[in-house]
Amino acid sequence: MSFQLPSLPYAYDALEPHIDALTMEIHYSRHHQAYVTNLNNALPGSGAEGLSLDDICRQVSRFSAAIRNNGGGHWNHSLFWEIMSPQGGGEPGGALGEAIQNYFGSFSDFWNQFAQAGATRFGSGWAWLCVKDDKSLCVCSTPNQDNPLMDVAECRGVPILGMDVWEHAYYLKYQNRRPDYIAAFKNVINWPAVEKRYQQFMGI
Ligand code: MN
Repeated sequence: MSFQLPSLPYAYDALEPHIDALTMEIHYSRHHQAYVTNLNNALPGSGAEGLSLDDICRQVSRFSAAIRNNGGGHWNHSLFWEIMSPQGGGEPGGALGEAIQNYFGSFSDFWNQFAQAGATRFGSGWAWLCVKDDKSLCVCSTPNQDNPLMDVAECRGVPILGMDVWEHAYYLKYQNRRPDYIAAFKNVINWPAVEKRYQQFMGI
């Protein structure tokens, strides 16, 4: 068994002008593909053969750095493509919209925390909106290709929204202006997809 690059649910230029086509093409077809290839190459003899990607993440402290970095890279990017859309932006409704109000006060208070988590992550990493075991929502960030599913993460939970703040996600268009990329990312968030993940986790 080996892992495969999932199909991208839209064209490379679909997120223009917020995320440019060349960044999307390189990010998906080279960076994500490399995580998948390197994960598959690291599997034989690792003890992780036959595990789901979720289970690899949950038990990642048992495995090599290659499994952690590339398994995380595959998991994180698979989520990332799914939670963006050319019809994105706006605010979440339904149960997730209510939960965001409950835990953060308002959508804009949530957004400020999330944007700050991405902007202040030193070096490479991700910002997350997670559902914790007690079903509360939290915002956090992780370094490199770690994620909150991992047993090594400082913040634990199930991510329902993730924002890649590696330079490869924005440098061609935004250079060093990470906050401009974060503001642009807000316009492509596929909130119905995030709501669906929230509802699946909550069983509603
Ligand atoms: Mn990336």
